[in-house]
Amino acid sequence: MIRNPIPWPNGAKCAVSITFDMDADSLIHVARPDDSHRRLYPISMGRYGPNVALPRILDTYERFGLKQSFFIPGWCLEQYPETVEQILKDGHEIGHHGWIHEDPIATYGNQREPFERAIESHKRLCGKSPDGYRAPVYNITDEVIDLMLEHGMRYDSSLMGDDIPHVLKTPKGQLYEMPVHWGTDDWPPFAHYDEIGYLMPVKSPSEGLAGFWEEFEAQYHAGGFFMLIVHPFLTGRLARWQLVERWIEQTLETRDVWFTTLGGIADHMDRLKANGTWSPSVETLPFFEAPPAKL
Ligand SMILES: [Zn+2]
Repeated sequence: MIRNPIPWPNGAKCAVSITFDMDADSLIHVARPDDSHRRLYPISMGRYGPNVALPRILDTYERFGLKQSFFIPGWCLEQYPETVEQILKDGHEIGHHGWIHEDPIATYGNQREPFERAIESHKRLCGKSPDGYRAPVYNITDEVIDLMLEHGMRYDSSLMGDDIPHVLKTPKGQLYEMPVHWGTDDWPPFAHYDEIGYLMPVKSPSEGLAGFWEEFEAQYHAGGFFMLIVHPFLTGRLARWQLVERWIEQTLETRDVWFTTLGGIADHMDRLKANGTWSPSVETLPFFEAPPAKL
């Protein structure tokens, strides 16, 4: 059971968002800044995302008439402008995902420059400032939330404190939170990436995706929100994407779901709040003013 479920449009039982973080080869450049340009294998693994997986993913979405959300670091927008153009041409949404996938904890105190540089790339290459944000490696901080509020952004999608979208309130303002969790992220089942400290045994496509579909069933029966947090270079690989595509087709045929962007969910929450039919739960920040265990 979910307390305070969101009434979805047209009586849909569950909202569904497949969100892709298109990190491309930014990951290796951050992990190995001194010699990443010589590391051709991880660069190629990342480039598979925009060059091979994205056209495949967009083709599926077009066939089923879906609009979805992508999160892309500013540096990747600059490197892959044709991919960005294609995503936007098809009516999808692109959110902020750092400048070059820098970890906001590792760069704490110095986030303004990369955060705003990424916003400039969004304005130039996407034609607008982004509405949403997902922190690289989910490591959002108070510093980043302040920057989001300063730039009039509407939602974050990095925290794990609830099953369904809600409000995140800080002393400086409020945002919507579209909560993530590791059970619907493709990194644990499919990432094998020594240079960034991930040596997971890669699961078969059906085994790796099976956990996602179990998560969907639970959200569907509770009238909740099912979101995948996936990566083109992992889930956009041929065999995995064929299975996701089949799942989308079957779900559209047999279930009462609302596929939408995270911006679409924020719009819907605005409407419900305005007409007084539903009020979101509120999480208040900061959780702590100082580390509680530090004596
Ligand atoms: Zn990422």
